[in-house]
Amino acid sequence: MAKKTTAKKQSSKPVKKTETAPKAETKKAVNTAAPKQKQSKAKKTDKLSRREKIFQTIKQDLIAQKESLLREAEETLSALPSDLNFPDMGDQATAETDRNFMLRLRDRERMLLKKIEETILRIDNNEDYGVCGECGNEIGIKRLEARPVATYCIDCKTRQEEEEKIAEG
Ligand SMILES: [Zn+2]
Repeated sequence: MAKKTTAKKQSSKPVKKTETAPKAETKKAVNTAAPKQKQSKAKKTDKLSRREKIFQTIKQDLIAQKESLLREAEETLSALPSDLNFPDMGDQATAETDRNFMLRLRDRERMLLKKIEETILRIDNNEDYGVCGECGNEIGIKRLEARPVATYCIDCKTRQEEEEKIAEG
């Protein structure tokens, strides 16, 4: 009886060793395993909840919004008057006002871009996206679709805005 068990152990070990010896055969084994991995990935996406699927749609919208913002920023930048030495003082003042306005606009765009990039990262890394930063409740899908960069639920945001109004007087 003891001889049979040792024989089984010996027979199982050499099989593994001979498999690793020919390198070409192991490469073929990896290739045939590839389609199986694709199937398992497809199953994973099926397992995504309705909410997570909407997050992916929101992410695509955010990427598109980011690209259009970058395009607009480039156009604004090229439209900035570079030469402010106008002969007439009135024209110079108007040009400077326009320039300040465009620079302020770019600040707002930069802030929005930063928010968009942070939101895309949060969706990618699955970092509490769609969870209120104050009460920890899930932010409603309708609110996220309307305002994807929202970090507070509507109740907390409304309360914050009311408190800000009181603080401002
Ligand atoms: Zn909240």
